[in-house]
Amino acid sequence: MAHKSTWKQLPRIVSLGEGAVSEITPIVEELRLPGDPLVITTKTPKMVAGLEILRNFEESGHSPKMIVIKSEGREEVERVIRELKKDDFGFVIGVGGGKPIDIAKIASVELHKEFISVPTAASHDGIASSRASIPDGEIQHSVTAKPPIAIIADTKIIASSPWKLTSAGCADIISNFTAVKDWKLAKLQGKAEYSEYAAALSEMTAEMLIQNVDLVLKKSEKSVFMVVKALVSSGVAMSIAGSSHPASGGEHLFSHQLDRVEPGERLHGHQVGVGTILTEYLHSGDSGKWKKIKNTLEKLECPTTANELGVTRESIIEALSTAHEIRDRWTILGNGIGEIEAKIVAEKTGVI
Ligand SMILES: [Zn+2]
Repeated sequence: MAHKSTWKQLPRIVSLGEGAVSEITPIVEELRLPGDPLVITTKTPKMVAGLEILRNFEESGHSPKMIVIKSEGREEVERVIRELKKDDFGFVIGVGGGKPIDIAKIASVELHKEFISVPTAASHDGIASSRASIPDGEIQHSVTAKPPIAIIADTKIIASSPWKLTSAGCADIISNFTAVKDWKLAKLQGKAEYSEYAAALSEMTAEMLIQNVDLVLKKSEKSVFMVVKALVSSGVAMSIAGSSHPASGGEHLFSHQLDRVEPGERLHGHQVGVGTILTEYLHSGDSGKWKKIKNTLEKLECPTTANELGVTRESIIEALSTAHEIRDRWTILGNGIGEIEAKIVAEKTGVI
């Protein structure tokens, strides 16, 4: 009988709470990470967490180094790798909302170093997942890296970030509903490996967020605790699955395509939220399920229309009708739904 063996990598330590950043050195000792850290961050995260991390390591006898990244492209990843090679650092710490974590993730996998994620905002599930997104011109490329060995999420720091970032994180979690539906479709078509356990974890995470939406809306440290926990669960679901299927389906394709059709500064989670309304309609029609999703997103102050998202109605139609072209992933969008159907779906759900 053929023996099938798979490796799943999961975070070993998740430290979540007020003042978590101050415990970073004991965590590194616990993990027995060798050498000194290279801290990768951007301007604001450097001030709210990066400098404290640097100080903590210096006080514990390490010689940490910090790189403040300027742009988000491939050239910054190359620069980080050059720095890592030059000084032979032992491990990498990504401190920030998205980009520093993505870059730290990719650099660490290329150099076979461990990576610690220190999110300063709860805006997407990349803080805990093995997927990294790197732009190439105007196009975002999603690449496989590895999950962080530890996640250190200081709820006090995250609670002080703008609410729109947390609301985007909530929408990214809610998208698990349609992502799992798409994954089941792909399984039925024989187009994807499926994990019952990862799918259940992903759906439960989104369900718990919806059930606790009033707590989340208090915008307190407890709310942030809840959202970060859910983002970590989504990341773990992806690690168990060995793919992004549990948290990324047609709604994510729509979001990536919207980036191409109408480039702008919109948040990933917010675009995905609108995509979830649209693809839920495609899955369940007038059953009202899409309304539940839309109501929750509205409560959370997430955009639910083209106008609120800051894109034209034409862009929504184009992105929805061409999203299937973006990636070799089977979803409810199938081989494309056509502009007429895309317009009907967007109008019926009130997106346009
Ligand atoms: Zn996402």
